Amino acid sequence: MPHKRLFIPGPTEVRVENLAALARPQIGHRSGEFRALYASVIPKLRRLLGTEGKVFLFTSSSTGVWEAAIRNCVRERVLCCMQGAFSDRWFKVAEANGKQADPLKVEWGQAITAEMIDAELATGGYDAITVVHNETSTGVMNHLDEIAAVMKKYPDVSFLVDAVSSMAGTKIDIDELGIDVCLAGLQKAFSLPAGLAVASVSDRALQKAATIENRGYYFDLVEIAKYDAKGMTPSTPAIPQIQALDAQLDDIFEEGLEARYERHAFLAGIVRGWARRHFALFAAEGYESPTITCVENTRGVSIADLNDELAGQWAMISNGYGVLKEKTFRIAHMGDTQEWEIRGLLATIDRILGLDG
Ligand code: PLP
Repeated sequence: MPHKRLFIPGPTEVRVENLAALARPQIGHRSGEFRALYASVIPKLRRLLGTEGKVFLFTSSSTGVWEAAIRNCVRERVLCCMQGAFSDRWFKVAEANGKQADPLKVEWGQAITAEMIDAELATGGYDAITVVHNETSTGVMNHLDEIAAVMKKYPDVSFLVDAVSSMAGTKIDIDELGIDVCLAGLQKAFSLPAGLAVASVSDRALQKAATIENRGYYFDLVEIAKYDAKGMTPSTPAIPQIQALDAQLDDIFEEGLEARYERHAFLAGIVRGWARRHFALFAAEGYESPTITCVENTRGVSIADLNDELAGQWAMISNGYGVLKEKTFRIAHMGDTQEWEIRGLLATIDRILGLDG
């Protein structure tokens, strides 16, 4: 069976060059070769994220780093911004880890604003907040710069950010924004295979973690920091993925960060224009994501059937998530996706649905 080109919001398509990087010979994780690899990758990630602080690698999906952020950076009470499937789930992770988690909830498709956060944090009592930058289930991207400006008023509140579907697809300047933990998995806008996640961790977050009990074992940031100082990870990491990440970061810098982010914005513009012409956008105006578009199914077409037809053309999009199934569908335009691929997909959908291109 030929490969179906993925236009789903993760895992995203991986270029053959990066697939080849996965197939390099294995190296020992306590060897000089590994330390050289680590010493190559971490500064590149710092550059990508605009941080002088620590960046750690996690052999897990993003969910693991959600748990790490909660266990290490929430002492007692956390405010969880909830606006879709993934932000809602981070709240559940906080509760499952025995923290007092309070929801700051808006309807799916809406954004969490700096004013809402300010109003909640002003009541006091919180020592951390979780924010999902780009809600993959709704195609909403919150205005992180405005939220970060408000967070400067609350230096004792750990600022925990999920940038799972935005990191490497849009600019996130960690140090300027003052984010304590900013996490992402590599299978989204990095265009790499699933299995490795990255997170920036501020010194402030590490100092706090050192005073928090029951941080667990696998995701103990204090332990991870100790090994990071030696240029390695506490346990055997996903070495093939780190090799592919090293290669992909070189390619990302070769394209240029600004150019990469502009390409994402440009592709988003194409998909949004198409969606407005034929359907409607689900995301609140002004908060549309540059990496994924959630289209409201105003024509009531069968998204399952559309995807079956697309499969015959070796392409795949995503149905709406959870309660949004068949009510919306999602097209990802992140990672290494190019204009011709997006235009080809939209032309194919036009033909299948009999729409006027
Ligand atoms: N956060 C966001 C915004 C996501 O989109 C996802 C998955 O799509 C996750 C977290 C969870 O990622 P994973 O399933 O890789 O753990």
